[in-house]
Amino acid sequence: MAYDYDTQNIFAKILRGEIPNDTVLETEHSLAFNDIQPQAPVHVLVIPKGAYLTWDHFAAEASDAELADYSRAIQAVIDKLAIAPGAGGEGYRLIVNGGKAGIQEVPHLHTHILSGKVLGRMLP
Ligand code: 5GP
Repeated sequence: MAYDYDTQNIFAKILRGEIPNDTVLETEHSLAFNDIQPQAPVHVLVIPKGAYLTWDHFAAEASDAELADYSRAIQAVIDKLAIAPGAGGEGYRLIVNGGKAGIQEVPHLHTHILSGKVLGRMLP
């Protein structure tokens, strides 16, 4: 499979420190920061530090350490913001857009974490 990663994408620039970001948390292999145009009171993006275009690229080529770190980083944000229903929070939605059909704008894997309002139904 060919993955055409563009090193000039905005999240690559954030990772290189060329563009500032509002960091929520950082782990060895992942970075979480607030979305610049939040669609909800909580709108955090979690990205792997590695050069991965999409979820499928990450799943195919990331190391076990990166995969584990990424899922733990997502959960660490949920814990930090206390949005999990089990922790008394109001719940959340995770979104990963991939490619054209997914309307992925930034070509570096990112998971959106949304919370703080009732988000509306996304599936029929
Ligand atoms: P996508 O449509 O690719 O799933 O979502 C890309 C997200 O990145 C959008 O929610 C957009 O607001 C966010 N975004 C785009 N540029 C920047 C930026 O420079 N900084 C931050 N923090 N978020 C950005």
